[in-house]
Amino acid sequence: MKLFECGNCSHTLFFENLSCEKCGHLTGYDHLSAEMLTFQPNTHPLVSDRKGIAYKYCQNREFGVCNWLIPAEDNREFCPACELNRTIPNLSDSENFSKWQKLEVAKHRLVYQLLALRLEILPQETNPEIGLCFDFIARQGDSKIMTGHANGVVTILLSEADSVHREQMRKQLSEPYRTLIGHFRHEVGHYFWDRLINRDQKVLGDFRAIFGNEQADYAASLKTYYQNGAPENWQDSCISQYATSHPWEDWAETWAHYLHIMDMTETAYYFGIAVRPKVKNMALGGSADFDPYTVQDFLTIYNAWAPISFSINSLNRSMGIPDAYPFVVSHAVVEKMKFIHHLVCRQ
Ligand SMILES: [Zn+2]
Ligand SMILES: [Zn+2]
Ligand SMILES: [Zn+2]
Repeated sequence: MKLFECGNCSHTLFFENLSCEKCGHLTGYDHLSAEMLTFQPNTHPLVSDRKGIAYKYCQNREFGVCNWLIPAEDNREFCPACELNRTIPNLSDSENFSKWQKLEVAKHRLVYQLLALRLEILPQETNPEIGLCFDFIARQGDSKIMTGHANGVVTILLSEADSVHREQMRKQLSEPYRTLIGHFRHEVGHYFWDRLINRDQKVLGDFRAIFGNEQADYAASLKTYYQNGAPENWQDSCISQYATSHPWEDWAETWAHYLHIMDMTETAYYFGIAVRPKVKNMALGGSADFDPYTVQDFLTIYNAWAPISFSINSLNRSMGIPDAYPFVVSHAVVEKMKFIHHLVCRQ
């Protein structure tokens, strides 16, 4: 994630800021320029400090869950992130409301990243065949609704925004990592499989050569996985145990990790992070001195990211908290990520 600057006083701004903490000017994210713009408070329309262009806020700003901008002359009411919402929870319940806020933070970061990758985001409302939408659902009683993806609809259960519940699920499923942004990245991976792979025979053939044949019975594969767990040596070929369950899940897991790595590298770049260890191990050193979204060669990104990720894990251990990135990326997984990066760069 980028760092931003106030257009009025140059104070540092973060992606979720609603105003500048130093000068009080309002802030808004302009997805077209990927910049945070600032505005004199109490003016209408909002005219940006630096650009002199008029904007309005996305309607979800009134709930404090969105700070994205829409050009003033545009008649849409919601930004490109919020117009993907098909179902939001009943907000009269204050617990639902605070969970929805957490989901929106993760979703906006996801959409920011998809735009940075120049992936086409089509709302399902206007593109019923190939569009994307989100259902944020509070599960009631013994309803069978689960977090998942089907035909462009990404469903996220509100309970995933409850950190205690999420930790229980993580333990129950023996996962090293379970987060909201991880869910979004994984589920949207299934969506982009339909968009980027399933519509192109050549790409589908390349996919099968790397991830395996997705025509294998999905329900039976998952059943086998939940009965027997991952095969031995799963780390040689997959990023997580769950990724071994079926080629579709391998794809979605690897896609999510590809997005993790791209985001961490961009953040490191904006902070100017360089790792220069005081031991003679060249593999531990490196720096992210480029914006990963402009780099064609995935290995360049990966080699800059790996030492940073390792050092962040070590910093977390200094604080007695779990590793930020508790995974081992094998050579085979890097190859899978190279395939994803190449595919994304072609779009
Ligand atoms: Zn300011
Ligand atoms: Zn919005
Ligand atoms: Zn999945």
